[in-house]
Amino acid sequence: MSDSLQGRLRGKSALVTGSTSGIGLGIAEALVAEGADTMVHGFGDAASIEALRKRLGARGVRVGYSGADVSSAADVVAMIEHATRELDRVDILVNNAGIQFTAPVDEFPVERWDTIIAINLSAVFHAIRAVLPQMKKRNWGRIVNIASTHGLVASTHKAAYVAAKHGVLGLTKVVALETATTGITCNAICPGFVLTPLVQKQIDDLAAREKLTGAQAQARFLGEKQPSLEFATPEQIGVLTAFLCSEAAAQIRGAAMPVDGGWLAQ
Ligand code: NAD
Repeated sequence: MSDSLQGRLRGKSALVTGSTSGIGLGIAEALVAEGADTMVHGFGDAASIEALRKRLGARGVRVGYSGADVSSAADVVAMIEHATRELDRVDILVNNAGIQFTAPVDEFPVERWDTIIAINLSAVFHAIRAVLPQMKKRNWGRIVNIASTHGLVASTHKAAYVAAKHGVLGLTKVVALETATTGITCNAICPGFVLTPLVQKQIDDLAAREKLTGAQAQARFLGEKQPSLEFATPEQIGVLTAFLCSEAAAQIRGAAMPVDGGWLAQ
């Protein structure tokens, strides 16, 4: 959790999509630690989400919750309206919700392609489109898109995910250029592997396929891509997001920042 910049986002309101789990949760925690009123978002059971809302709220900020399904454009727009109503405004939008599915391209189920493009790419467009007018009115905003190393390079069996994440980086650059003379910035973070449910499923599949123990599958998984042989963490991505939301980052625009244990250096 961020402890070096505490309180720098006091008075700002943030919406972090997909923050009931994994990386998004790390980001919501970092923004709350900086004092931002924050709307958490995503799926999960009601009791744990309420416990999360209370735990974050105990840090002296307002914390709301949205369960909008971001595979629907209408739900995305309603989510922005809901956050604006509940927290008075959305100054910081973190587009993080995302899913994965793996299969060779000629066997990739069409409905999986459509859903991944909807959640991992189109939802980012719909949310930015809906939030920009109010950011422009205040001449201040921060948009952080959680892309991936797969926004810059490919891996086999991830056609929809890689296409969506490359698209997110393109969209990030366009929004950064269109807002370049304003107080709004738009950037992307490109995590390598982070041990979240999204990645754990791929490690479990590898273990089952190759008859490996969990530890062996994890080592193989990292060894194929991530030179540090260590996972990046939601906390590290949270702190970088909070930095991108700070005044110090006002001239970082349209960037794709890796947190990848050296993956993209190869
Ligand atoms: P996760 O599965 O732990 O969390 C995903 C979040 O998105 C959850 O809160 C879930 O409820 C929400 N979500 C999924 N579909 C949704 C929908 N239709 N509507 C609303 N909410 C929905 O995953 P994670 O690993 O934390 O991934 C978060 C982001 O980081 C994703 O965009 C992912 O592509 C990206 N990423 C992850 C890794 C990694 O190694 N874990 C690496 C690079 C990029």
